[in-house]
Amino acid sequence: MEFKYDLRDLKFILKEWLPSQEVFDCERFKGNFSLDDVDMLLNEGYKVAREVLNPINAPGDKIGVKLVNGQPVPVPGFKEAYQFLQQNGWGSSSECIKVETGMPLILYKAIFEMNTAACPALTSCVKLTSGAANLILRFGTQKDNDMFIPKMLAGDWQGTMCLTEPNFGSDTGDIVTRAYPTDDPRIWKIKGTKMFITAGDQGTGENTIHLVLARPEKGAPGSPGIGLYIVPKFWVNDDGSMGEPNDVTTATLEHKMGLHAQATALLNFGDEDNCRGILLGPPPDEKGYSKGLAMMFHMMNESRIGTGHNSNSQAAAACYFAAQYATERVQGRPFGIKRAERVPIIKHEDIRRMILDMKATVEGIRAMIFKGFYFLDIEGNSSDKEKARKYAEFAEILTPLVKGYGSEASLGVIANAIQILGGVGYSTEYPVEQYLRDSKILTIWEGTSFIHANDLIGRKMRMKDGAPFAHWMASIKEFIDANIKAKGFEKEMKSLTKGFEALSEVKNTFDSWYANMDSKRQLIPLNALRALFVCAQVYVSYCLLEQALIAAKKLAEVKKGTSDAIYYEGKIASARYYLNNILPQVVLTTELIKSEEDIVITCPEESLLIN
Ligand SMILES: Cc1cc2nc3c(=O)[nH]c(=O)nc-3n(C[C@H](O)[C@H](O)[C@H](O)COP(=O)(O)OP(=O)(O)OC[C@H]3O[C@@H](n4cnc5c(N)ncnc54)[C@H](O)[C@@H]3O)c2cc1C
Repeated sequence: MEFKYDLRDLKFILKEWLPSQEVFDCERFKGNFSLDDVDMLLNEGYKVAREVLNPINAPGDKIGVKLVNGQPVPVPGFKEAYQFLQQNGWGSSSECIKVETGMPLILYKAIFEMNTAACPALTSCVKLTSGAANLILRFGTQKDNDMFIPKMLAGDWQGTMCLTEPNFGSDTGDIVTRAYPTDDPRIWKIKGTKMFITAGDQGTGENTIHLVLARPEKGAPGSPGIGLYIVPKFWVNDDGSMGEPNDVTTATLEHKMGLHAQATALLNFGDEDNCRGILLGPPPDEKGYSKGLAMMFHMMNESRIGTGHNSNSQAAAACYFAAQYATERVQGRPFGIKRAERVPIIKHEDIRRMILDMKATVEGIRAMIFKGFYFLDIEGNSSDKEKARKYAEFAEILTPLVKGYGSEASLGVIANAIQILGGVGYSTEYPVEQYLRDSKILTIWEGTSFIHANDLIGRKMRMKDGAPFAHWMASIKEFIDANIKAKGFEKEMKSLTKGFEALSEVKNTFDSWYANMDSKRQLIPLNALRALFVCAQVYVSYCLLEQALIAAKKLAEVKKGTSDAIYYEGKIASARYYLNNILPQVVLTTELIKSEEDIVITCPEESLLIN
């Protein structure tokens, strides 16, 4: 079966649901993009996903990238596909800030979603180059920009993000990689080891540009003391040409569960005391404070939403494959009907339940993700400063929801896809098991699910005395109030109202725990991920219902049985399923949170182990 993707839903998002024209009208994009371009760009992007990327996905998984005599050997076709995306406007040159050729995120990400579904190992490499380039574009000098950006955007040089060290993963603030000053205030000597670096030595281009977090000598302890440095694998001369090796060595590539085509490297910087890095941003102040971590995280909202997007794209691809398979696999007879013929499994209630569960989850999370990209587009480009500020805060709140819920829920979707295929779903002959292996990392990198749950309840709910979170909740409430009597959706509106009440109770419960830290301290992290699920499931429900109301109107206008009519019926079914089958779980989760059930805390630690 060939790779298929739901182009129609992406077109609905851009042309029928989001106010895309508002984004296209922003000064940066004006005259370059219009709603009329959407179909053509998405159709072309789909072609690239099918013809360029998907053909290398399964072979890349089987062959895997290798390190031979210290040199990376990419899987066949990987380097060419990477450069194809970068050189033809499907990669970093369309994604980066401040670049003339930049696309609105809502449009770029719709295309990128299909590419990711087709070959997730490859698109993360593109994404990392965009992330590294964005940091240089935002915080670098003109000279830094001139030296690095053209080659990175052209696909000649790969970018990476180097945070993790052998002893410091979630604890980024404690890293021990060091930066030592030289006679030139711009250049520092870097020494340390970074672990698990994606595309750390990928072989896609002639140079790799690492963005490295390191603590300058005499830097303050903890997060405020960390600086950010551009550390090329090969030194880059002032005129942008490539110089000698920069004392960055690849100790090994990880052997891992999935993403075999992607080089996850253990990198040593400065074994020979000869590794140079270019300081990004200001030097440490007299207290030893630097802005490295803050700069890195400044650019993180988009990449963390991107991680949730990555997982949802893979889940979507698995969903479409399984649904198609269910129409072809003949097995079993209709329940309770004597002497009936065997039927395609899509006729079975349990299979239909799993398909609709997958479809509703994928479409709902996709909707939440694209709200996030829309908010980021307005934040970055709108001349309406008040709106930009408000949407920046909404994007901040959505970031942990998309990253945490998106990546966790995708695993359930892909597991269902495997279930639908039965035994062959577990076999490497079919593509769905690879999606499970390739996507599990997405609950871990860019901060684990717990780290995002902690960010939600500790920071996002409470920042600026809770005002942005209150505004975000109000945006859901406004929708409920305006549509409470929506004809044909009374049941779903009631469900959303209950979900919203549960969300309010969760917020109040956490407020009261924070006000009583002495006695309630441990309940906060214990329930953090549960709270994240409540927030995300309510927001997903709101998005799906907003979409369903549009679909219902359109359905009344189109001819029955047409592909549009079928799509709108499917959209309404997704909303009904999610609101009536998944959202009610938040009421139970909220009861659990409020009950302060604490066996996890009170049982002796030894009882968790084998004696
Ligand atoms: C394939 C792959 C690619 C990667 N790519 C990159 C990359 O490009 N750049 C990069 O810098 N890093 C990268 N990483 C590293 C990744 O970001 C880290 O693995 C991740 O941040 C988790 O850190 P850790 O593995 O040290 O786990 P730990 O930090 O040891 O966490 C282990 C467990 O403990 C939990 N935990 C930790 N602290 C707390 C706490 N305070 N309270 C409750 N629970 C806690 C975590 O949630 C997790 O479940 C990659 C990793 C992999 C496997």
